[in-house]
Amino acid sequence: MRQCFVQFRCQLVEEKQIEEEAIFIDGTKIEANANKYTFVWRKSVERYSAGLVERSNQMYEELLEIEIIPEIERESSDKLSAGKLSSIIESLDETVQAYDEKIEASDDTAVRKELRTQRKEPKQYRKLFRDYLRRKEKYRTDMEIFGNFNSYSKTDHDATFMRMKDDHMKNGQLKAGYDVQVATEGQYTLAYNIFPNPTDTRTFIPFLDTIEKDFFELPNHIVADAGYGSEQNYGDVLENRGRIPLITYNQYRKEKKKKFRDDPFNTANWAYDEQADAFTCPNGQRLWFSNFFNRMDKYRFTRTFKAYECEDCSGCPLRSLCTKAKDGNNRKLYVNETWESQKVYIREKLSEEKTGEIYGKRKIDVEPVFGFLKANLSFTRFSVRGNAKVKNEIGFTFVAVNLRKYTAMNSSWNPDYTKGKSKKTWNHQKPVVPCFFSYFRLVLSQPLFCGRK
Ligand code: SF4
Repeated sequence: MRQCFVQFRCQLVEEKQIEEEAIFIDGTKIEANANKYTFVWRKSVERYSAGLVERSNQMYEELLEIEIIPEIERESSDKLSAGKLSSIIESLDETVQAYDEKIEASDDTAVRKELRTQRKEPKQYRKLFRDYLRRKEKYRTDMEIFGNFNSYSKTDHDATFMRMKDDHMKNGQLKAGYDVQVATEGQYTLAYNIFPNPTDTRTFIPFLDTIEKDFFELPNHIVADAGYGSEQNYGDVLENRGRIPLITYNQYRKEKKKKFRDDPFNTANWAYDEQADAFTCPNGQRLWFSNFFNRMDKYRFTRTFKAYECEDCSGCPLRSLCTKAKDGNNRKLYVNETWESQKVYIREKLSEEKTGEIYGKRKIDVEPVFGFLKANLSFTRFSVRGNAKVKNEIGFTFVAVNLRKYTAMNSSWNPDYTKGKSKKTWNHQKPVVPCFFSYFRLVLSQPLFCGRK
């Protein structure tokens, strides 16, 4: 499948149908072939697991206290390992067996009755410990399946639960799915991969690695929407790969609005004195540099901030509009210089004619691929389970999308066609090709009868 894409791209380059100046990256979430309500959440498993450790410790202490079993050698006083739980079950087995033998040997009904009553307690404990052992094993397997993620589906372990765009019930219900990332040029899918991450920001660097490793050398410009704009991603494209990121960031559009630019309490509008390294607030007070500090996010990426503090906020008439800091505390301001300089770089690049024009193509390049995939082919749900199969299925589907585009561009029915030069679209209502895709759509919409778990 990978070879298909590599060779298809070579053909496009040879025929000069793509210019190799940029790739356009975007992602979409596609529902997995997993049943509803089959979710397993990491947090719940961690909570149940902690409860189990506490309860099993408590029960073990009880057993020692009532002298049902002898003390076992423990590796850790915090929790009982699966091996130790098995030892406890074995000891309880022996105790129950000893009672069984005594009952068997006795002819006195009263004694037998008494022994049976005494046997009840170790039997109950044994049942509970067997259950603990089973649950402990289950939680261990769950944690292995989670890997670095927070959820999985019982019917497709590789899928994670995420919020889909098409939320028909309008209740924000999470569905098991895959995040499909594609890199396009000229509306052709040139590389793709699937990820279990529900956010585009986290898939960007691994996806660029996939492209470089499996598909082709990255062109000069890497274009993506604001979902991919982060300090880590900009740094990776600029420093590690030596390419130009044409990627906006969350505030990019907002920054251009009059409301944003005229807001006196927006710290981006506060005057900055480079020499004194101080900002001036709307009340004319100075915010002086106080210290540097680092913040590490949950993915272990560290950002460095400069902290500034206002000299005196006491009695400020604008306080309620400016800060939510407690009375007596001065307004603080945190500035990430790397991020600010990256934002300046992006703004400059997007305002340049050539790069601005390349960024402008983003919407008409990558979005139609998803449009065709979902709206025309009705490919909104996978029909197979597991990473490998899902990756193959989406690969076949992108091959179909590419061939449809290629056929349209190179067909002799295309009035705009002049081979190797034309990039104009063609009326796809012509015969044959739609026929082929109607059948293809029918095939894709059928549940597969093989290859399922
Ligand atoms: S609260 Fe402090 S920082 Fe804000 S306007 Fe008043 S003096 Fe300036």
